[in-house]
Amino acid sequence: MPENSQIPGGGARRVLVSGGAGFIGSHLCELLCARGDSVTVVDDLSTGRRGNAGLYGHARFIESRLSDALSGPLADEAPFDEVYHLAAAVGVKLVMEHPAESIENNVGETAALLRYCEDHGRPRTLIASSSEVYGKPGTAVFSEEDDTVYGPTTATRWSYACSKAIDEYLALACSREGRVPCTIVRFFNTVGPRQVGDYGMVLPTFVRASLAGEPIRVHGTGKQSRCFADVRDVVTALPRLLAETSSSGRVFNLGSDTPITILELARLVIEQTNSSSSIETVPYERVYGPGFEDLLQRRPDLSRLRDVIAYEPRHALADTVRDVAAWLSEEEHGAPGEAGGDDRAVSA
Ligand code: NAD
Repeated sequence: MPENSQIPGGGARRVLVSGGAGFIGSHLCELLCARGDSVTVVDDLSTGRRGNAGLYGHARFIESRLSDALSGPLADEAPFDEVYHLAAAVGVKLVMEHPAESIENNVGETAALLRYCEDHGRPRTLIASSSEVYGKPGTAVFSEEDDTVYGPTTATRWSYACSKAIDEYLALACSREGRVPCTIVRFFNTVGPRQVGDYGMVLPTFVRASLAGEPIRVHGTGKQSRCFADVRDVVTALPRLLAETSSSGRVFNLGSDTPITILELARLVIEQTNSSSSIETVPYERVYGPGFEDLLQRRPDLSRLRDVIAYEPRHALADTVRDVAAWLSEEEHGAPGEAGGDDRAVSA
């Protein structure tokens, strides 16, 4: 369990971030460090990158499974002021490849974190959830109080959604019982630099193919639509939400509410990278096996979020695509770390 020697640097708030070497977590840590917080990161580097942790200066980095760090180096620490729990086995594809391990990780580590928080001063705690929690409700726009609709337990595809839903139940119960004040955030498709295509996430996969002049492979018809939010917009919402006491014990959608079809996304990527790539459609069953279910559309209702923090994203998708292309090109030439993302299997 290596721990770097750097002591957190004197900020007003002591903050714990699990999964801070990952895609979203590393951008969040940059923001928290910039506002002068004293940040402790725990990450086991299962999908995160050590290089990501190196990007945000003075944070203390503990390379460890979260539950081991909580019962080890963090057991006797003074309470944190804020906790951001982003560590998870992320995305449908990863969970389909390693179902038991992923379910244990997502449910067990959240339970361990909430017990720790209860015993250590009950800090304001943000739990990362996913738009996957909605399952397949049959509506175009997803609101936080909508029903969740899943397939049978024999279809492994739904286990990621259910593991995140259990996290939500647990965090909401802890809030209600006065054990830990929790805010739950359901991330929709989040994209940007440091997200890689290893687990099938659509944008980096498309950009990589486009930069190489290879065909862009769109899963299904390509008529399915998603809303893509820039990670640098998304992370600004997290500390602002946690600062609002009215967010405690509540669930918030977070992302973009501007849809684009996956075919349009492929065309945008080709245009923004000046590529000669072609677009090919590939049936889902060839990628995920028979019976894989995907959603035709997925768009968040952001009214609850906007009521609380007046959230307005700043990055246009075309700009994000160009930034992802620039980052991936730099990566190819040996620049620092990269990480993973979510909605990996379902977006393309
Ligand atoms: P990521 O894979 O880049 O980040 C997860 C990080 O957690 C990784 O650095 C990984 O090494 C670490 N980790 C996993 N299990 C751990 C454990 N037991 N102990 C310590 N570290 C552990 O993924 P991300 O896209 O940054 O996702 C962050 C969170 O946001 C996750 O909870 C995910 O479910 C949620 N989310 C992301 C998206 C998206 O579009 N990226 C969408 C919905 C939900």
